Amino acid sequence: MNVRLEERAAQAAPVRRKTRLDRYLEENPELARAYYKIRKHAPKIVISGYDITKRCNLRCEGCFFFEGDLSAGYQDNHTIEEYEEFFRKESERGVTFPHFAGAEPAVVQDRLRLANRFWKNGLIYTNGTIKIDPEITFMLHVSLWGNEETDKVFRGAPVFKRGIQNYAGDSRAIFMYTINHQNIDFIQDLVRMCRDNGNRISFNHYSPSRQYNAKLRDGGASQHDERSTFRFSTADNNLRLTPDDLARVRDILDRVLDDHRETVVYSHYYNSWINDPKGRYEVNAKTGWATNCVILNKPYHRQYHTDFSYSDAECCVANIDCHSCRHYVAGYTMIMDKFFQHLDSRESFANWLDVYDTWCRLHFRNWDHLE
Ligand code: SF4
Ligand code: SF4
Repeated sequence: MNVRLEERAAQAAPVRRKTRLDRYLEENPELARAYYKIRKHAPKIVISGYDITKRCNLRCEGCFFFEGDLSAGYQDNHTIEEYEEFFRKESERGVTFPHFAGAEPAVVQDRLRLANRFWKNGLIYTNGTIKIDPEITFMLHVSLWGNEETDKVFRGAPVFKRGIQNYAGDSRAIFMYTINHQNIDFIQDLVRMCRDNGNRISFNHYSPSRQYNAKLRDGGASQHDERSTFRFSTADNNLRLTPDDLARVRDILDRVLDDHRETVVYSHYYNSWINDPKGRYEVNAKTGWATNCVILNKPYHRQYHTDFSYSDAECCVANIDCHSCRHYVAGYTMIMDKFFQHLDSRESFANWLDVYDTWCRLHFRNWDHLE
C-alpha cells in the first residue's frame, strides 16, 4: 500500500490528544494567565528549612520551638565560616527556596546576609520586633497574634506595634496572623490596621505541640512557669481551636478576603479546606506521625536544626501534634501537591490554581506585578 508522506508522518507521531487541562486553559483566559505565570516565574521550587538560631527575644505562650525536643535541644555554636560552607552545600544540593526559622532569625542577621549571597529568593519567619536589614531580599512572614492587649497576654510584649513600625509599606513583609481560640474577635480590626499601614496580611491556624497538649492533659496549672512558654494555659482556658471556632473563623476569613482583596492574601478554597473540623491528616496510631503529610514525604525537604543535623522523619514544625496540625505551610503544600486530583472539573482546577497563586503571593515579592 502506498502511504503518502504526511499520512506516514502522522502515523509515526500521533497528535497529542487534548487533555482536560488544555480545555480548561483554552476556555478560560484568566485561568491560562494564572497557570502560565506560575510556570514562568515559579518553576522548580525546592524548599528546605533551617533553624538558624535558638535565640528569641520573646517567650510566646504555646511556642512550638521552645516547648519542643525536636528544636530547642541542639547546639547553636557554628561559626560564620561554617555557615558559609553549609549554605554553599545546600545551594549545590539543589535547594532553590530556603525557609529560615528558629527561634528568631532577626537576631542573627549576619547569617541571613550570608544566605542571601547564595539565594535571592527565600523566606524568613520572624516576630517583627527587630528590623531585618532592608538589603536582604527574602520574603518575611511576620508573626501576628492579635492586638496590643492580646500580645501582652500571649507574647509578653507589644509585638504587633513594633512590627508595624518596622515594616510599614515593606513589600517583603506579610503579617501572618496565627488564629487561636482567644484572638478570633480581633481579626477584622487587625486587617484594617494592616491595610492602613500599607501592609498585607494572611492567616495561620494555631496548632498545638505535643508537649503543650501533654501539659494540658497533665493538669496545666501545676506546670506553669512565668518565664516559659506555658504561663497560663489550662484544660479549660487555652489556645486550641474548637470545631465552633473553626466555623466562625471560616466565615470571618471569607468576609475579610472579599472586603479587602488588596490587603488579604488568602484563598477561599484553602479557607474551606483548612477549617474543616475533621483532622487534616491520616495519622499512624502507633507513631503519632501523619502518613500523608507532603512535607514529611518530600525526598529533598530537610529541616535542619541549629547544629546542622536533620532527620528524614521530621517535618518543618516537628513538635506539632499531627492530629490537630493546621499549620499553613503544611496545608498549602498538601493542596498544591494534589494537582491531578483537581483536574476533575474546571472549578476544581480553578480552586487548586487559586491556592497555588496565593502561595506565590505569599512567597514572591511583587508577585502581583509579574506578568
Ligand atoms: S513563637 Fe516565635 S517569637 Fe514567639 S517565642 Fe517562639 S520563636 Fe519566639
Ligand atoms: S507538617 Fe505534617 S508531619 Fe509536621 S506536624 Fe503537620 S502534619 Fe505532622
